Amino acid sequence: GRRRCGTWKSERVIASRQGPHLRLAGGGAEIINFCANNYLGLSSHPEVIRAAVEVLEKFGAGLSSVRFICGTQSIHKDLEEKIARFHQREDAILYASCFDANAGIFEALLTPEDAVLSDELNHASIIDGIRLCKANKYRYKHMDMQDLEAKLKEAQKHRLRLVATDGAFSMDGDIAPLREICQLAQKYDALVFIDECHATGFLGPNGRGTDELLGVMDKVTIINSTLGKALGGAAGGYTTGPKPLIDLLRQRSRPYLFSNSLPPAVVGCASKALDLLMESNAIAQSMAAKTQRFRSKMTAAGFTISGKDHPICPVMLGDARLASVMAEDMLNRGIYVIGFSYPVVPKGKARIRVQISAVHSNEDIDRCVEAFTEVGRKHGAL
Ligand code: PLP
Repeated sequence: GRRRCGTWKSERVIASRQGPHLRLAGGGAEIINFCANNYLGLSSHPEVIRAAVEVLEKFGAGLSSVRFICGTQSIHKDLEEKIARFHQREDAILYASCFDANAGIFEALLTPEDAVLSDELNHASIIDGIRLCKANKYRYKHMDMQDLEAKLKEAQKHRLRLVATDGAFSMDGDIAPLREICQLAQKYDALVFIDECHATGFLGPNGRGTDELLGVMDKVTIINSTLGKALGGAAGGYTTGPKPLIDLLRQRSRPYLFSNSLPPAVVGCASKALDLLMESNAIAQSMAAKTQRFRSKMTAAGFTISGKDHPICPVMLGDARLASVMAEDMLNRGIYVIGFSYPVVPKGKARIRVQISAVHSNEDIDRCVEAFTEVGRKHGAL
């Protein structure tokens, strides 16, 4: 079934660090990698690695405990404080992943008297988190403000309303209209929650995320994000927002209460990544320039790239087979990209998703565009 449909997921084995250039296990030439969420290239940044080693030596491999029993070290409190400061929020709480942060928040916050309004294309972990809570559930059409308003009107009968959306959507590289969402939330007395996994560290003038980009840092109440993408790429997630909310999560959020503390080395990576980003936004700017280079050269070559100004650059191809044979042919030319087709994206909207990183060189970007042009011509996509 799945194998024949082309939806079977196999894993390529990497024999090197994560980075712009990789070696696959079993030999072969180096390939240029365009499918990691390593937007700022911090996964293998020498200072990030050194910080992790130092913290590992001092604080050990792990805690063998949840936070509230004997799993809280000074580094966990320091990182939470740093995350809150980065986002200009009151407090933050760490999780083993953003999947856990999303699994924990809705159930802890919402009762059967409340309502949650969720974009239909939200990440799987938000969908699962919402499934776990007993609030009334409304799903609005992707970024459709008329539909959101209609659902908000319907939801006025409930005690509390929470609008939940990805800040940036990972399949399309599009950005939620947060200004409009916050206006509607104000009009209909709702809270706003955003998942910033594909925004934290690089969107907005100082890389604070979608809320900074769209000028609504003071209007978004709750942010969940990951330490496993731009912020060093090791692992971990968090919620940041008002202190009473974070206090509540420490008491009630099940993935926090019943899962091991974040390993010290992982804390060390994220903490150093945040230091680097708070010192300077040069890395984020370098990524933005390369994103611009890729998007404009690909568009000039005749391709359609979905989204706008985001390092997720989906090359829209339509046909599932075309996306998969082109991705394979790209790898034959040393360019590692992945094709996505139904059911991951809608039928007839197959694509190859290219993700740009600050550590790609201009030559890497240009080689990718050249390969796309050759392969696109060969298979009739251009
Ligand atoms: N939310 C979004 C939008 C994501 O893309 C991901 C990525 O995997 C997650 C949540 C889960 O994050 P984590 O890998 O930290 O569990």
